[in-house]
Amino acid sequence: MDTDYYRVLGVANSASADEIKKAYRQLAMKYHPDRNPGDKEAEEKFKSAAEAYEVLGDLEKRKIYDRYGVAGLRDSGYSGPGNFDDIFSSFSDVFGDLFGLGGRTGGRRRQGPSPGADLRYDLTISFMEAVHGVEKELEITRRDTCWTCEGSGLRPGHKPRPCATCQGRGQVLHAQGPFRIQTACPHCHGQGEVITDPCNDCNGQGLVAKKKKVSLKIPAGVDTGARMRLRGEGEGGRKGGGPGDLYVIIYVEAHEFFQRDGDDILCAIPISFTQAALGCTLEVPTIHGAHELTIPAGTQTGQTFTIKGEGVPHLRGHGRGNMLCEVQVRIPVKLDKKQKELLKEFAALDEKGNENVGAGFLKKFFHF
Ligand SMILES: [Zn+2]
Ligand SMILES: [Zn+2]
Repeated sequence: MDTDYYRVLGVANSASADEIKKAYRQLAMKYHPDRNPGDKEAEEKFKSAAEAYEVLGDLEKRKIYDRYGVAGLRDSGYSGPGNFDDIFSSFSDVFGDLFGLGGRTGGRRRQGPSPGADLRYDLTISFMEAVHGVEKELEITRRDTCWTCEGSGLRPGHKPRPCATCQGRGQVLHAQGPFRIQTACPHCHGQGEVITDPCNDCNGQGLVAKKKKVSLKIPAGVDTGARMRLRGEGEGGRKGGGPGDLYVIIYVEAHEFFQRDGDDILCAIPISFTQAALGCTLEVPTIHGAHELTIPAGTQTGQTFTIKGEGVPHLRGHGRGNMLCEVQVRIPVKLDKKQKELLKEFAALDEKGNENVGAGFLKKFFHF
């Protein structure tokens, strides 16, 4: 095998950890034995890539390799090319996020108990539910352990037979030039045994589709993207393996009036121009109900007032965020005769009292 690991992965010697991971991913996807059944060349390339990644993907090993090469690795007690099982384990580490959250589906084959896969559930909740917390009941359909055969896939009272292809070893040897390569048996998928009398309830799968209700307590303060893990609520295991986990990903709907900025709540408060000019006391809505807010005389549009502690509870730790009220001054659109007269009168007084706003601005602008 090529021991220039950078060349194998097609990356520069200065490649970042991410670049190395990405390059390995692409190669492994392309040459994975499941995708290229019977293709020896693809298998070799897959193994070379896995070996290269085993070294370059590990900071410690990469350091040694950069300095002393493969011989240095051997001297440091790292074995050379890993066995197939190790290759699959590094494979599932890298592909965990691609093939579901658990990363247990990376093609690993092994005998004995096999744990259930992790599942993902996308849950949308309302803005208020996120802010106050809520209890939800989810109905999920998942593959659960078949209890007729206890996940073995065998008809009760029957035994599996040793696989004839590999004589029960689970591995087969291929000759390739001077080498003999060991791979998982294609007939029994590495199990070493085959089921000739399958369980009637699960057709030998060891798993059956079941609906289940799961209750979930969502804490106050969650936001979109929050991820909750429910241990043991994933797919059932086989042959005595434990169940996987259920991951619930939370999405929060937008609210008509409120917006979130972390644990602070933003809200626009419309007031009239007379309220802004004279000052007033208002009842404003908060996520906990109504709250009194005093607007001082001379408030401008866009000014923001903070109501402490009326925001979202902190998910970690105690206390809450604040409520930020942004004042929006509304200018009346329709005026009756009386109102117009009064405003004109006001305007006349205003010109005497304050300097005319427009004229002052013009003066400044043109340097009169
Ligand atoms: Zn069964
Ligand atoms: Zn076999």
